[in-house]
Amino acid sequence: MQVYADNAATTKMSKTAIDAMLPYFDAVYGNPSSLHTPGQKAKEALEDARATVAKCLGCEPREIIFTSGGSEADNQAIRSAARLGARKGKKHIISTAFEHHAVLHTLQKLEEEGFEVTLLDVHENGLVTAQQVKEAIRPDTCLVTIMYANNEIGTIQPIAEIGAVCQEAGVPFHTDAVQAAGHLPIDVKKEHIDLLSLSAHKFHGPKGVGALYVRRGFPLTNLIEGGAQERGKRAGTENLPGIRGMAAALAESCANMEANARKVTAMRDRLIQGLRQIPHSAVNGDLTHRLPGNVSFCFEGIEGESLLLLLDAQGVAASSGSACTSGSLDPSHVLLAIGRVHDVAHGSLRLSLCEYNTEEEVDHILEVVPQVVQYLRNMSPVWRDLQTGKRQYIL
Ligand SMILES: *Cc1c(COP(=O)(O)O)cnc(C)c1O
Repeated sequence: MQVYADNAATTKMSKTAIDAMLPYFDAVYGNPSSLHTPGQKAKEALEDARATVAKCLGCEPREIIFTSGGSEADNQAIRSAARLGARKGKKHIISTAFEHHAVLHTLQKLEEEGFEVTLLDVHENGLVTAQQVKEAIRPDTCLVTIMYANNEIGTIQPIAEIGAVCQEAGVPFHTDAVQAAGHLPIDVKKEHIDLLSLSAHKFHGPKGVGALYVRRGFPLTNLIEGGAQERGKRAGTENLPGIRGMAAALAESCANMEANARKVTAMRDRLIQGLRQIPHSAVNGDLTHRLPGNVSFCFEGIEGESLLLLLDAQGVAASSGSACTSGSLDPSHVLLAIGRVHDVAHGSLRLSLCEYNTEEEVDHILEVVPQVVQYLRNMSPVWRDLQTGKRQYIL
């Protein structure tokens, strides 16, 4: 049996999204900037997609900028707020220690350019509070950027409360909602969000396309200079097939959100209950404020990398940490941020489900993970030391 349980890394495209893209490779191939009829047909399709995305977020179409994905949207949002702040002599940014690298590395660059960054501590349950944000805001704060839901441990932040705190203080608020869009109900106005990033391939759309919501009136800075596309804020001929695919995928995910969440949450909880039976293991992140599809564990005495390879051999595609950290020997910065010690953080496993997964697949995972963990522990010198008492168990 082949089980794909790595939907936080990327998802399979939906049939609806593929079908929505196809006409824009042949029948409607005009350049939306062209004045002739084929161009204008493409332009109409582009604006129609923008309206669809806007509707799913509760904003106006003119508040949506199409980008090449979540990373670009994060970069542009953060750079824009920083540029605006610097002009007013404000160079302090608030974020958290467990953001995606698209945010963290952009913030590191800004630190090199003279900005000061406060990374809020994340509670061991994987949450930050609006109160923490409130206490960290200073007169020179020019941006708060906090992810909507974490990509490794699935925890959902109190975004509306944080947004309210930022609005009251008059500080722009950006959220990386790449894991949330299409999976959780989002209303940028009610949640007081000024800037929001999303990416199509995390909700059954195509890779290489995303969007940035920019509250009307917020001055955006270009990352890419050139033509006047996207209201002059993002140059380059639009990826119309991708944008159409994204809009279709988002509309479909939003229409089926409740039913999908119910189905996926039931599978998630069965997995969590089952895997918890493995001795000396722990779930990462809060159990209630959690993405429907996220299962994240640490197993003491083993290496996450070996676990992944053996699971792959059993037909289960999973992840330890994020796709970006896999391949490096450093433990996940997210697990360290919630207080897992290095040894424990190394033995991590993330299973991320979607509505295409089945109960039979959950059964398969519940059968193979305990076996593989036991197999690895039997070979592990660390596990032997734990068993003989030479080392103390942490979990
Ligand atoms: C996947 C992801 C990104 C990056 O999105 P891309 O479209 O792959 O650039 C950013 N933030 C989070 C939380 C993600 O999960």
